[in-house]
Amino acid sequence: MASTAIGIDIGGTHLRAARVSDGGEILDRVAERTVRDPEAVVARILDLIRRLDRPSVAAIGIGVPGRVDAGRGTVLSGGYVDLSQVRLAERVAAAAGRPVAIDNDGTMALVAEIAVGAAQGHESVALLTIGTGIGGAIAEGGRILRGRRAAGQLGHVTIDAGGERCACGRLGCVETVSSGTALGRHVAAAGLPAGTSADRLFALEAAGDPAARRALLAWATPLRAAIESIVAVADPDLVLLGGGLGAAAQRALALVPAAADWFCCPVEAAALGDDAGVIGAALCGLMDRVCDLHPVRAPSPREVA
Ligand SMILES: [Zn+2]
Repeated sequence: MASTAIGIDIGGTHLRAARVSDGGEILDRVAERTVRDPEAVVARILDLIRRLDRPSVAAIGIGVPGRVDAGRGTVLSGGYVDLSQVRLAERVAAAAGRPVAIDNDGTMALVAEIAVGAAQGHESVALLTIGTGIGGAIAEGGRILRGRRAAGQLGHVTIDAGGERCACGRLGCVETVSSGTALGRHVAAAGLPAGTSADRLFALEAAGDPAARRALLAWATPLRAAIESIVAVADPDLVLLGGGLGAAAQRALALVPAAADWFCCPVEAAALGDDAGVIGAALCGLMDRVCDLHPVRAPSPREVA
């Protein structure tokens, strides 16, 4: 029987889980609204695992928003969901009886895009996931760039040192102005109806609507600046924009051409959308060599007792 794994992605809006084949194919999935209380998140994850569990499941992977020490299997800090105090990997491994790999959610998404998505064949890739916040990860020479512990926090590239306060405590991170949450604020500031979709903004902009253009420029201009800074640092051969709004963000960048050719790089929409997180998490659980992870092994029954 071929091995499968359960991948879990803790997003700002949805908690997603899927049983995934070793080839990266989603076999079964469940999703629900994300809860913010860390203990409730652990309980919901255990319930989702129970619903998806089969004898073929060999491992579990969990993509976590925030900074993760993947080598030690610990969450260092979090933004909208902070799991740094709940010993997530150990508890899930003990309850599910499977090895558990955890990593930053952006890393999980990049692993999926490299394995079965838009970054296949690329060695050096930067991914920004545009959703409730902005996640990110960098692959260099086919391996995830780790730095000391948690490199690749691309949502926290500073684009305005006097800008808005970010969840990380600093000012002017790109996440504060180019996330999906920020797009909602730009729409309101431009005087457009709440809930105006990105597709609607593009249609209005194409018809000459100045408010739609203002909102899209406020969203895409700092993103362009962040991408150029990332290219200046990492010089990837591809920048991918993923998450629920990745394709829209990539389209909006056409309104903001690169200012100079020093830091140009192809920028493409990721292929897997919101599925990237669960696919990558599952693959990391199964094939830790892909993302250099060290799964936390399930303790023996004696250890549990
Ligand atoms: Zn920040």
